[in-house]
Amino acid sequence: MDGVIFEKLKILSDSAKYDVSCATSGVDRTNVGRIGNACAAGICHSWTADGRCVSLLKVLFTNKCVYDCKYCVNRRSADVSRASFEPQELAALTMEFYRRNYIEGLFLSSAVEVSPDETAERIYRCLNMLREEYQFAGYIHAKIIPGVSPEIIHRIGMVADRLSVNIELPSQESLSRLAPQKKSGGIFRPMRQIEQTLAEQKTLKGAGNMGHFAHLGANIAAGDGSLTEMTSSQNPIAVKETGRKYAERFAPGGQSTQMIIGASPENDRQIIKTSESLYTTFKLKRVYFSAYIAISEAPELPARFTPPQLKREHRLYQADWLLRFYGFRADEILDERHPFLDTDLDPKIGWALRNIELFPIEVNKASLEELLRIPGVGTVSAMRIIRQRRISAVKYDDLKKMGVVLKRARFFFTCMGRYYGGKEPDPVYIKGIMLDAEGIRDNLTDKKSWQQISIFDNHLVENKAANNELSI
Ligand code: SF4
Repeated sequence: MDGVIFEKLKILSDSAKYDVSCATSGVDRTNVGRIGNACAAGICHSWTADGRCVSLLKVLFTNKCVYDCKYCVNRRSADVSRASFEPQELAALTMEFYRRNYIEGLFLSSAVEVSPDETAERIYRCLNMLREEYQFAGYIHAKIIPGVSPEIIHRIGMVADRLSVNIELPSQESLSRLAPQKKSGGIFRPMRQIEQTLAEQKTLKGAGNMGHFAHLGANIAAGDGSLTEMTSSQNPIAVKETGRKYAERFAPGGQSTQMIIGASPENDRQIIKTSESLYTTFKLKRVYFSAYIAISEAPELPARFTPPQLKREHRLYQADWLLRFYGFRADEILDERHPFLDTDLDPKIGWALRNIELFPIEVNKASLEELLRIPGVGTVSAMRIIRQRRISAVKYDDLKKMGVVLKRARFFFTCMGRYYGGKEPDPVYIKGIMLDAEGIRDNLTDKKSWQQISIFDNHLVENKAANNELSI
């Protein structure tokens, strides 16, 4: 590899390490005469202990930023090495890595060099080159810079599998304080545009009318976030995309976002409510949480080297799971009297202990929704219970085989009328047992586990692989 490119890669992959929203799930595209695949089960992931994905080439297009977000290592005032790729350089590098089997796809984010549109245009050229010139059909996740014009968002969406617009902070107030150049409108308008384009695409696909696909997303966001359709003369893509082989779907993996945890004073309740609202309003696939790593010196931020709130991040991910798969509402998970998640307890157990009067639940009579409320019962085991009940009553010994985690669940259910929690459900007693059982929780604070794996950290990779912590 050329020494200059290598140096750029070193700087720009290091600069990207604080962005965690890079899962690759949800895309299923068959490869016909191209290079690479992007199918739901076909992409191999390697994850660090804290959930960061290392199978993609995760890199910034540039870290030369005209903005000065206080929490960011790449802010204009930070004294760090700077670099930018040329579109051709990054496209060629991605292919080189892909062919060597280093990576399965590309996760491309960026700082704002000159302006959002100028940077996004260069990103588009790079991605389009990958798709058109190199015929790359692998996974691409592209970050949309807040404030980018709708027309460029549409073009990037046509060549990327997933898009994300980072909300960064849970409230407008914190955004104004810590990232004054970013406006919430500049974040929500692209989210709205992506959501509407995906909805239109789904409708057309359902009607078997993908011939009009080239016009999708050709919307102009008004100041209030509403959208009006572009005319074909305003939308050069409408003409250009027609007949283009790759123009099959706009961002088939949907959109996601990332929130920084611990850089601003919002409590967990506000964070979960914001997540809920993002899921319902913009149909996001995922909200990622990233514990703030105190690298910046600013009076508005936690002191430098304050440990990142990894346990809190972990509990927020569990709460997010409750929102997405277990039918919980944000107001149920936390309320005004309990604004923070208990970092020592799984949020589902915390909720159950606060609502102990709802338990025990009889597993042979409960609805699916009720079964999902029992700590230790997951979506798969709940479905198995329901299926088994159609044939015969579920016995206690069956539950373990069905995947129920009895050491947690036994305090919250009865099976054929019998309670297995020792005595009547008592939140203090149960909490004590649960805390004892959570002996492994301290592993979350393992200092090494929160470090971002760099493709240059060979010794770290080797050590972790040797310990089976990371499968590369
Ligand atoms: S826009 Fe803000 S968060 Fe993004 S790279 Fe620039 S300073 Fe960092």
